[in-house]
Amino acid sequence: MSEPKPASPAEPHKPANFLRAIIERDLEAGTHAQRPFGGSPGDADHHQAGAIDPARVRLRFPPEPNGYLHVGHAKSICLNFGLARDYGGVCHLRFDDTNPEKEEQEYVDAIEEMVRWLGWDWDAYGTSHKFYASNYFDFMYQAAERLIERGLAYVDEQSPEAMRANRGDFTTPGTDSPFRSRTPAENLARFREMRDGLHADGAMVLRARIDMASPNINLRDPALYRIRRATHHNTGDRWCIYPMYTYAHPIEDALERITHSICTLEFEDQRPFYDWLLERLAEPDTLADGRVLAPMLAHPLPKQYEFGRLNLSYVITSKRKLKQLVDEQHVQGWDDPRMPTLAGMRRRGYTPAAIRKVADDSGASKSNIWLDYSVLDIALRADLEEQAARAMAVIDPVELKLTNWAEVFGSDSAREPCSAPAHPHRPELGVRQFSLGPSLWIERDDFAEVPAKGFFRLFPGNKVRLKYGVVIECTGCEKDGEGRITAVTATVIPDTKSGTPGADSVKVKGVITWVGAHDAIAAEIRLFDRLFTEAQPDAGGRDFLTVLNPDSKRIVQGYLEPSLAAVPADVRFQFERHGYFVTDRLDHQAGQPVINRISGLKDTWAR
Ligand code: ATP
Ligand code: MG
Repeated sequence: MSEPKPASPAEPHKPANFLRAIIERDLEAGTHAQRPFGGSPGDADHHQAGAIDPARVRLRFPPEPNGYLHVGHAKSICLNFGLARDYGGVCHLRFDDTNPEKEEQEYVDAIEEMVRWLGWDWDAYGTSHKFYASNYFDFMYQAAERLIERGLAYVDEQSPEAMRANRGDFTTPGTDSPFRSRTPAENLARFREMRDGLHADGAMVLRARIDMASPNINLRDPALYRIRRATHHNTGDRWCIYPMYTYAHPIEDALERITHSICTLEFEDQRPFYDWLLERLAEPDTLADGRVLAPMLAHPLPKQYEFGRLNLSYVITSKRKLKQLVDEQHVQGWDDPRMPTLAGMRRRGYTPAAIRKVADDSGASKSNIWLDYSVLDIALRADLEEQAARAMAVIDPVELKLTNWAEVFGSDSAREPCSAPAHPHRPELGVRQFSLGPSLWIERDDFAEVPAKGFFRLFPGNKVRLKYGVVIECTGCEKDGEGRITAVTATVIPDTKSGTPGADSVKVKGVITWVGAHDAIAAEIRLFDRLFTEAQPDAGGRDFLTVLNPDSKRIVQGYLEPSLAAVPADVRFQFERHGYFVTDRLDHQAGQPVINRISGLKDTWAR
């Protein structure tokens, strides 16, 4: 594991939040202290045969592998893995793969890669804590039979419409299904027929028998199993019945001996069912025929806690909608640098540390939060300011001709060597070398024929310094037939070279960046902007495709200083005056640079 390192006890800089308070209270009370752990997921017998769990707490990050992780998931990852680290526990990576239709191995692999990229690991105490909910299908099935035998579940053959109508609503209690009073034996037989493929998809479901009049609609006999003929990425065609999420998830937590099961707010109303189910499976019972049933699950049971989702402005955090952007080719894949997926953000150049910082600083609260997208850029700049090497690049180039070059330096083929530190505060990163010549590339907007008030860069008659080079005086420009400026002209002021005695004798108000036409490297530079024009693209049920930003990606041809000639892919820079950039991890090659802009130097989102 790279960073962050497991640490215990709590790191002092972490702000308090209600989840920390709960965990600290449980640790103090020893709620989980005497809990045996079987060394792997399992039922009551398995765990009770184990030693005391060396992990003081167990948490989990349980993604459904039906898409790529996004920035909202980063919140959940950093929260769960961070709490485990801070309190001497472990966080499981669990693929919640109980829904065969939408899940794919590609997503499993991508999720694993991105959790690691964010800096987390699930190996602890000599084992990998990477689990698949689908490996618990046998247990889930047995548990369902147990509920049936105890009269706590029944097979319902009502049509989906009738089932919906009979559920009632907030003001009306539900109506019992005509199938609700079947005997356990009848239900068991039917359920086995479901399992054995004797009934069509959707013909019937297994439901818990709880209370059709409960004020909590989630307790009005929720569905536990459905029939669905679909090939599962892990279990293939072994099953044609699949557990419902609300049934599967508590069982997954209990088999893995999770102590604190943290989920987002929308699951709050599911918590009573979560507890009901686990308590039923953890209690002994005696059947009417005298058979004694031992508990299937071990106490103490996991507890569910809910926190608010993280949302970013100008971003969509729904895998379904992100998938739509990919499938309909509004973006070029899940890792398009404009996507709020972790794969996209990595390619864009965001650092794991910046993403973790945003996640950590947003804390954990009982309401959903919206953060402005700029928080990410602020965190990125804070992270890269001290790390990223500097370089000069020209993004919107126009030629600068130094018309007295031969006079000053002897000939047009003469070069004037220049150097600059790779980083202003980190001499150990070394020095960059480049040179001046008679023809340079500068930014088009560093020249104005008629300067606006406060413009101190190139305009006829004005002097500026070429950064790390000499002072020049602008003499004018050249234009093509359409009046477009093709070159800016200037003369060199002798004896003004940066770092030489007397260099400062000529005072200038402007300093501009440049690269030499003779040694610059041509580069494809990809400039990204927000993907949507509205801060909450899908708010109020709006079709988010109607607010796609048509200018979210612009590709320009620029020039880089020669020190970047051999730079590998996935390296971040600060281009002086421009902001932070990264060599594209897929398309960049030394000699044929492809560079993504990560973020400007200042906040351009709040414009
Ligand atoms: P989506 O709607 O994008 O599919 P999800 O919640 O269904 O999101 P899961 O794969 O089930 O996706 O999520 C894994 C975990 O990440 C869950 O515990 C979920 O609550 C959490 N999570 C997802 N989105 C956010 C978010 N925006 N903020 C915080 N946690 C989130
Ligand atoms: Mg989900």
